[in-house]
Amino acid sequence: MKICILTLFPRMVLAPLSESVLGKAAAAGRVEFSALDIRDFAEGKHRVTDDVPYGGGAGMVMKPEPLAGAITAARAKLPLAPVVLLSPQGRAFDQATAIRWAEQGALTLVCGRYEGVDERVRPLVDELVSVGDFVLTGGEFAALCIADAVARLVPGVLGNAASSGEESFSDGLLEYPHYTRPPEFRGEKVPEVLLSGDHARIRLWRRRERLLRTRAQRPDLWARFLALGLSDEDRALLDNQP
Ligand code: SAM
Repeated sequence: MKICILTLFPRMVLAPLSESVLGKAAAAGRVEFSALDIRDFAEGKHRVTDDVPYGGGAGMVMKPEPLAGAITAARAKLPLAPVVLLSPQGRAFDQATAIRWAEQGALTLVCGRYEGVDERVRPLVDELVSVGDFVLTGGEFAALCIADAVARLVPGVLGNAASSGEESFSDGLLEYPHYTRPPEFRGEKVPEVLLSGDHARIRLWRRRERLLRTRAQRPDLWARFLALGLSDEDRALLDNQP
């Protein structure tokens, strides 16, 4: 998996990606993170990348020429990678998108700054994606979220191959609750079934917890899950305690 981030602040994105699980995956050659400095594609002695908005108003706008140059260079470097502009106005990033991009094997992420990018950059990218309904100062943290979510799906990046299989959003449900030692903490006990060693019962308990917490905490996900039709087992789990 190759992920290239176009940014005015390459160190801001490369440093976090060199740590922990992703840093180890990069050292092992399973993923490759790189950055292109948008300023390298700006012209003139001062390599200016922003300018005042036409029509007036607060803030600065990222000029189109440096971004166009950086995007052309990124397309030459990773020809098969979708080029994605981070924007609060984009489609919401989700697990299905992370899976799709991980399967594609390459991804280019473009980080805006200031008031955003000149509108004429939009046709130069393939998609606009948002990480949530809030406004960040720049696209770098959004790019890091996406790089993390995509890279961890690459085979061999997570220690335990099963780690991403049953977790939240993988099949439209949230994950079941986790417990570890001690068996009792501040008066709260680990559910008895998890200590039973009965793997069939544990599986049913976990499935029921996934159903119940998705219904309680994420009505939007629950509605989509219901629309696909409940299995007999899921219906029975919702009706009765296993
Ligand atoms: N003026 C813009 C607006 O209101 O839509 C916001 C610009 S924001 C301050 C600067 C840059 O941060 C954006 O160009 C984008 O790259 C990034 N950004 C901010 N919020 C984001 C979000 N929720 N998702 C993805 N990128 C975001």
